[in-house]
Amino acid sequence: MKRYEHYINATAAAPSTGRYFASRNPYTGEDWAELAEGDATDVDRAVGAAATAFDGEWRRLTASARGRLLVRLADLIEEEAPRLAEIEVTDNGKLLAEMGAQTRYIAEWYRYYGGLADKIEGSVIPSDKPAFFNYTKYEPLGVIAMITPWNSPLLLLTWKLAPALAAGNTAVIKPSEFTSASTLEFVKLIEQAGFPPGVVNVITGFGREAGSALVDHPDVAKVAFTGSDLSGQKIYENAAAGIKHVSLELGGKSPNIVFEDADLEAAVMGAISGIFAATGQTCIAGSRLLLQRSIHDRFVKRLVEVAREARIGDPMDASTNVGPVTTEAQYNKVLEYIDIARSEGATCVLGGGPCTGPGAKGGQFVEPTVFTGVNNTMRIAQEEVFGPVLAIIPFDDEEEAIAIGNDVVYGLAAGIWTSDMGRSLRMADRLRAGTIWVNTYRALSYTTPFGGFKRSGLGRENGLEAIKQYCSVKSVWIATQTSTANPFVMR
Ligand code: NAD
Repeated sequence: MKRYEHYINATAAAPSTGRYFASRNPYTGEDWAELAEGDATDVDRAVGAAATAFDGEWRRLTASARGRLLVRLADLIEEEAPRLAEIEVTDNGKLLAEMGAQTRYIAEWYRYYGGLADKIEGSVIPSDKPAFFNYTKYEPLGVIAMITPWNSPLLLLTWKLAPALAAGNTAVIKPSEFTSASTLEFVKLIEQAGFPPGVVNVITGFGREAGSALVDHPDVAKVAFTGSDLSGQKIYENAAAGIKHVSLELGGKSPNIVFEDADLEAAVMGAISGIFAATGQTCIAGSRLLLQRSIHDRFVKRLVEVAREARIGDPMDASTNVGPVTTEAQYNKVLEYIDIARSEGATCVLGGGPCTGPGAKGGQFVEPTVFTGVNNTMRIAQEEVFGPVLAIIPFDDEEEAIAIGNDVVYGLAAGIWTSDMGRSLRMADRLRAGTIWVNTYRALSYTTPFGGFKRSGLGRENGLEAIKQYCSVKSVWIATQTSTANPFVMR
């Protein structure tokens, strides 16, 4: 079995506990790697290295030089993308086709933010006070803690790391305990690109120990987190003790809303990719399908007809459509939600159980599952399942679609399918979500801000917005005429 250590100051570092834990391949059911189990002592070493690097050679580089390093890293990522994708698939069981496209695309984030590094401009303020020159500048925050989940480890790390490095920060990463290997392989490319040691460090381990020690560390300036809303809430509370900056990318229960005037075949494909891609294990899953009542029955018939054909199997195989569920806990949770939906009175029209067919091997497979007759108050409509389970809810008109669409605690994304331009704009205005898709689903880019409303999170990743979230604004006042007036005499 391959053994991975922590990565501190560009060196492999054994855990102070001497303990390691296994990473399991969700398709074969076999442990394939072991990882250092980090604790507060290890976290302290990593934050120390990042703090020293922040004040060292890294701080003295010009913004343009930082940008060039990021662009060089992008070239190395492109060369290594296929290997990194295979490691991710071995760890999380998502399709090689998806992870391959993702790891290749990641390079573009480093190019984009590499280009932005020397364009974070402050301004000269036209002051109301005479005899002052007053300007602002953007400065890096310091050491950023980056805590990532298991579903898209390198992509979701990149959304944090690329803008943070472009702005001049340093980082300590705590990847998910289920998928740490790709991050540890990736950081070797950072070293190869020529970044000074200590700029990026990795501590592996569990959230309750390594993760919380990182959030609590007094020398961490910001916590950038992607994961579940409950972990996000805990991290927000803990970070508050140190008045730290926090960004949270959390869960979702996104509505995918189809009107009778839509291109229905396109909407069927959008609904299927919205929920069954990545085995439903994406924060943006279109897990509530809202269908206008007049098209409900024929839409469901066609959706089931297409979804039934999904090939379940080895995620490394290019012909597979649906892979295993990543973790055992998640597998049990998805099956539990299927039972809950049945007990709440929803009707299962496809799937509805574990999949044990020939393609399933030793893995944790759940059949693509569709429920009709769902009412938005049911738990299957309100709670994030994070699996291949679709809840279909009928509606009559725009007002009802908006009311149902917004009636959840989350607000990450929403899809609208209609041929009426005015309707798409009205809906886009009134749906409370950070991303709205019209006649498409799942489009994302480094150019475009992404993040949640309500319990889906705080702050934005990607686009121009993201880089300033890794900066502090400083205001500088310079008197252009010195004053000898007595400060105790008010004038
Ligand atoms: P999780 O919250 O269980 O874990 C995420 C990370 O946080 C892991 O590295 C974990 O070790 C760490 N962690 C957990 N508790 C912690 C604590 N108290 N202090 C510090 N670190 C802690 O989430 P997960 O199961 O890995 O991922 C699935 C969740 O992530 C889903 O809810 C999904 O919607 C969400 N997600 C959101 C986005 C987004 O961008 N909005 C993207 C992907 C996934």
